[in-house]
Amino acid sequence: MLNFEFYNPTKIVFGDDTIARLSDLVPADARVLVLFGGSSARKNGTLNEVTEALGSRTVHQFGGIEPNPSYETLMEAVTLVRNENLDFLLAVGGGSVIDGTKFVAAAVNFAGDPWEILLNHGTNVAGALPFGTVLTLPATGSEMNCGSVITRRETQAKLAFLSHHVFPQFSILDPTKTYTLPPRQIANGVVDAFVHIVEQYLTYPVGGRVQDRFAEGLLQTLIEVGPLALETPQDADARANLMWTATLALNGLIGAGVPQDWATHMIGHELTALHGIDHARTLAIVLPSLLNVQREQKRAKLLQYASRVWQLNEGDENERIDAAIRRTVQFFESLGIKTRLSDYDLGPDTIDKVVDQLIAHGMTALGEQKSITPEVSRTILEGAL
Ligand code: NAP
Ligand code: FE
Repeated sequence: MLNFEFYNPTKIVFGDDTIARLSDLVPADARVLVLFGGSSARKNGTLNEVTEALGSRTVHQFGGIEPNPSYETLMEAVTLVRNENLDFLLAVGGGSVIDGTKFVAAAVNFAGDPWEILLNHGTNVAGALPFGTVLTLPATGSEMNCGSVITRRETQAKLAFLSHHVFPQFSILDPTKTYTLPPRQIANGVVDAFVHIVEQYLTYPVGGRVQDRFAEGLLQTLIEVGPLALETPQDADARANLMWTATLALNGLIGAGVPQDWATHMIGHELTALHGIDHARTLAIVLPSLLNVQREQKRAKLLQYASRVWQLNEGDENERIDAAIRRTVQFFESLGIKTRLSDYDLGPDTIDKVVDQLIAHGMTALGEQKSITPEVSRTILEGAL
């Protein structure tokens, strides 16, 4: 196992009817900005519940944070926080609203142009406003981690930052709040969480037995509950398990002490920035081809994945690896998520653009062994046509 430090200060409040807990989780004298997305939180009553729980506190609202939250929109929230002297942020939504809130929290008192936070991947963040979240979409794990992904529309750049200053103070996870999600977002959430686990599990072996078993358990849970959550939107048990699995997939636990890949995410971010494809769908396009191209580097773990996650024990090594990749694709497709560039009307000409953007963003040595050069990224994308 590799050396590691593990730190996660986010308090999780999990369960039905837990939004009322905001009344004591948010400081009594806080001047609050509630941030949310388009219309879902208002339509399904979540925003009302939040407002009620905040009682007599000073509360301002900022709506309109878009999927793949943009720097341009978020800077309007930064201005509002500064003008109204607000001192506590509350994100109500999915990964986009939570990521956006992390950026606002870090940007409000940032000396200089806040886009520098993204250019430096968060290393220059010296502090942030405190914030909490009410999660409405199980997918990203943003509710219990210190990462955030922000898009600058002007330059089509989608970049990530990490800082221990942007761990949420608390996150409320009420599975019943996910009942109104459209099937597309449930499927996206299952695939995003699945790929988060794979990015931390399917690397090279370092003897992280407990991390491997956690990862395999989470993957198997997704394979079980993903279809149930789609078939029966009000299956409370499926929704609760999906929600907690997505959080555990990316809260630092399974990635501590093991190598991490993240190349699928970095290549996927460019596809979203250039073509607007949903985050999870870009991962479903990139991952199968990446596993195929990286099969030598990942051989031992691919065989373990084949056996322990998919019970594939027949045939020679390459046959088992092929079968495991095929099962992964079938799982994504069974949720309604297409896995080829051509399914999204993209052809070979998009590959040059993606590779150019990867180079422009410094993504030239990706993967757990930093062996994914722009040429390897090109081969991966060619395999995904
Ligand atoms: P999202 O972009 O937050 O939301 C997608 C859609 O779901 C929105 O249109 C939203 O509608 C709707 N929605 C949310 N909750 C709903 C509910 N309860 N009922 C009905 N509709 C609902 O999706 P996401 O997958 O959670 O987040 C994706 C973003 O997170 C991407 O930018 C991705 O890069 C990033 N990400 C971050 C991390 C991290 O660790 N920080 C990890 C992976 C990905 P409204 O706008 O109308 O509310
Ligand atoms: Fe993701």
